[in-house]
Amino acid sequence: MQKALIWLRRDLRLYDNAALHNALKQNTQVWVTFIFDTNILEPLHSQGVDRDALTHDRRIDFIWQGLQQIDAELRQQGGGLIVQVGKPTECIPHIAKTLGVNTVYINHDYEPSAIARDASIQASLHQLGIALETFKDQVIFEKKEILTNSNTVFSIFTPYKNNWLKSLQEKDIAAYDCSPKKGQFAAIPKALQAPFPTLESMGFTPTGIETYLPPGSEAGQIFLEDFLHRIDQYQIGRDFPAIKGVSYLSSHLRFGMLSIRGLVRETHRRMLAGSMGATIWLSELIWRDFYFMILANHPRLAKGAAFKPDYDNIEWESGAHAKKLFQAWCDGKTGYPLVDAAMCQLNQSGYMHNRLRMVVASFLTKDLGIDWRWGEAYFAQHLNDFELSSNNGGWQWASSSGCDAQPYFRIFNPITQSQKFDSEGKFIRRYLPQLDQLSKKSIHAPWEAGHIELEAAGILLGRDYPLPIVNHDEARKKTLVRYSVVKKVSPESLDN
Ligand code: FAD
Repeated sequence: MQKALIWLRRDLRLYDNAALHNALKQNTQVWVTFIFDTNILEPLHSQGVDRDALTHDRRIDFIWQGLQQIDAELRQQGGGLIVQVGKPTECIPHIAKTLGVNTVYINHDYEPSAIARDASIQASLHQLGIALETFKDQVIFEKKEILTNSNTVFSIFTPYKNNWLKSLQEKDIAAYDCSPKKGQFAAIPKALQAPFPTLESMGFTPTGIETYLPPGSEAGQIFLEDFLHRIDQYQIGRDFPAIKGVSYLSSHLRFGMLSIRGLVRETHRRMLAGSMGATIWLSELIWRDFYFMILANHPRLAKGAAFKPDYDNIEWESGAHAKKLFQAWCDGKTGYPLVDAAMCQLNQSGYMHNRLRMVVASFLTKDLGIDWRWGEAYFAQHLNDFELSSNNGGWQWASSSGCDAQPYFRIFNPITQSQKFDSEGKFIRRYLPQLDQLSKKSIHAPWEAGHIELEAAGILLGRDYPLPIVNHDEARKKTLVRYSVVKKVSPESLDN
């Protein structure tokens, strides 16, 4: 009898899952496990102010609720999810040995620390005479599958995308059948039976995330269906944070509650039928593959290196002044309403619209002169959909140090971005109600409103809303000087 253990990590679903499909195909008995990795949980606690208090982390809650659904699904089929809290390097060999399985199945992870962890587990399993089988699951094309004509790794997106589209075949997006035979999901043996750990037992508190972002495959599917009704207009609405123009699927995708193959199938079909929205949305999914590919081929990025090494020569602001500016950015108190509203969206919900991620990242690096790594770390701590590869890619894009980044002399103007993408100030009003009474003209730069309007709106700048912490035009000039080290050109010649 062939027995297998599937270790779920960022593929939290029981359908169209490569590792699960192969385990079910090749084995008579199959168990499923998830480990709450204390190497990941512990640093989350230390970020809290009070070490003894329960930590509020929406991702842990999201995963925890998603796993309960998987457990319930497995129990209906005679099995159950084996959930442990600990170090995977210890838990996985222990569980595999206790179950007496022949093989452990996992899907690829592209983060360097996960790759090292998996290699260490493979060595431990090998000593126990247990095999580890691994599969591509979270991307369509991985590692070196898409290469340039001269067999090198791409670093520019558009030719990568063109090659990606040209390479795509039916088999790349076909769903993996994961229907078990009767009794194939085996009951959990006594030695491994344990109550499902509570959030509190792991040091976390419920966050209420399910009220606006319900976890699990079924909820993800509902979000997807909702988006498919809107996908044809994606290119029109996607840049406006006040309207429902994007998919909001990133967290379900991040934790594998939805299958990337399913999303590409739906989109590619619509693209071939001529939908512009689907074409652009598919491009976004390809960006996701692109950044996974970049990280897999340039693991130094996970250690904080700039993709373009000369950008590591930039001298960022430092000391107490920099910390003060950074704190104002984190708290949404820069005095620039669109930036502040975006940071409030992140702090209150764990989500931030893509246009706003670009605006606040540009503001932090190019208006405040703060090292992009500080912003990257803040996003990593707060984003529900935090993904090392895309987050690093996004920050390096905004700070211009990335592979296919925006030129360093392109500096978003936070006021014109606001006028263009939130012209009525609807998004700003949602997150900064104290500015609600300002006209649609003044809401983008309240310090430019006259005394009469401010007074009528009940706003005293500096008391009800901050004065701007920097002057954009001056900051822009300073940034061009700061960045001049990367090109050895005089700042005057850049100041166009
Ligand atoms: P949609 O517009 O509906 O896009 C659909 C999907 O395409 C997204 O869910 C995502 O998987 C993918 N996608 C879209 N844009 C990008 C992109 N630029 N790069 C890579 N994939 C993309 N995305 C993350 O998933 N995790 C992150 O940690 C992350 N950090 C970012 C940091 C910065 C500074 C920037 C500028 C972007 C970051 N992004 C990140 C990319 C993008 O902002 C989010 O994927 C998107 O806002 C998620 O919302 P959505 O699902 O509604 O997006």
